Amino acid sequence: MPRKRPGALRAARGTFEGRRPPAWAWELPSVDRLSPAPSAEVHWALGARAGNVAGLLSMYRRFLRTPGRRLWLVPSGCPGCPGCALDDVAVVRDELADHYRAVPSEARRALGRVLRLLDEEFRHRTFPDPDPPAAHWTDWSGDPYPWWHRRLYADNP
Ligand SMILES: [Zn+2]
Repeated sequence: MPRKRPGALRAARGTFEGRRPPAWAWELPSVDRLSPAPSAEVHWALGARAGNVAGLLSMYRRFLRTPGRRLWLVPSGCPGCPGCALDDVAVVRDELADHYRAVPSEARRALGRVLRLLDEEFRHRTFPDPDPPAAHWTDWSGDPYPWWHRRLYADNP
C-alpha cells in the first residue's frame, strides 16, 4: 500500500559530497554488509538513522526468504502508522530508496549494488500487476510510484 513520501531525507546530500567522513563515522560498526568507506558515509550522512538502512535491508531479505518460487506482496493492515506501514515490502523498498538518495556517492554505489541484487530477485519472484488499483500508480501529489508498487498483492486491496 502506497504512503505519503516525506522526502525529508533528500536535502542534505550536497553537504557530504566529495568530502571524507570524520573519524567517528569510521569507528562505528559497518552498516549491513557495506565496506568501511561506504559505511562511514552512511553514518555521517544519516546519523542515528544509519541503523534503519540495515534494518530495512533485513526486512527486504526476510520477504525474499519466504518459501516458494513465487511471492505475493502483503498489504499492511495499518498503513497509516509508520511502523506497521513497513509490513508492506513495497514501503520498505520506498524507504530504502529515500536513504539511497540521501547518502553520498560512494555509499550510494555500494547500496545500489546491494539493492540491484535484491531487486532482481524481487522482480523475478513477484508478478507485475497488469491492472493495479489507481492508488498504486501515483502518490498523493500525482507523482508515479516506483515499479515495486505495481506488483500483485496477496489480496488486492
Ligand atoms: Zn499500526
